[in-house]
Amino acid sequence: MDLTRRSFFKASALALAGSMAYELSSASEAFAMDADDSWKLVNTEEYTNICCYCSGGCGVICSVRDGELINIEGDPDHVINEGGLCPKGATMFQLIKVVDDKTGEIIPNPNRVYNPMVRRPYSTEWEEITWEEAIDEICRHVKDTRDQYFIEKDEDGKTVNRLEAIGHLGGSQQNSEEEYLILKFMRSLGLVAVDNQARV
Ligand code: SF4
Repeated sequence: MDLTRRSFFKASALALAGSMAYELSSASEAFAMDADDSWKLVNTEEYTNICCYCSGGCGVICSVRDGELINIEGDPDHVINEGGLCPKGATMFQLIKVVDDKTGEIIPNPNRVYNPMVRRPYSTEWEEITWEEAIDEICRHVKDTRDQYFIEKDEDGKTVNRLEAIGHLGGSQQNSEEEYLILKFMRSLGLVAVDNQARV
């Protein structure tokens, strides 16, 4: 066969294209998802959220199936963590569910606390109370403490209107506007010791 330089390159290009097409089709077959496969995240809805543990504010994807959270993982599109999570954040799913030591099944975390708990003075036991009771009790304690310890004037008679008997530590995931309102509220009670976990 009389193979010219031009026909040689043409034949080589065709052979290369054919080989690449074969490789790609083999690869896509290898990676093809079987619709019936028990892929962990099949038939889930994704919701983005933020890790609750520290001020880093890493983004996470929460996968939900039939109204039930089944997986949490780092969000690759999040500007802060780009998909990564530290060991603490990576175990966030265990707030809800854990693997049973004996059966290997995923079960609700038996240590999760679903209601407010209170340990009364001198008691060694935790007592479960309702949210209404918890809010009422907290309000009562704040009012009583403020009534008892509010300082209107200092030793020199200067007006200070402050309360040193209560401190407030905010959570790390409140946004600036929420923190602004919290700070205003605490200052209105006279609190001096106000800080936020995001700062530390
Ligand atoms: S994943 Fe780790 S670093 Fe990121 S917010 Fe959560 S606790 Fe902080």
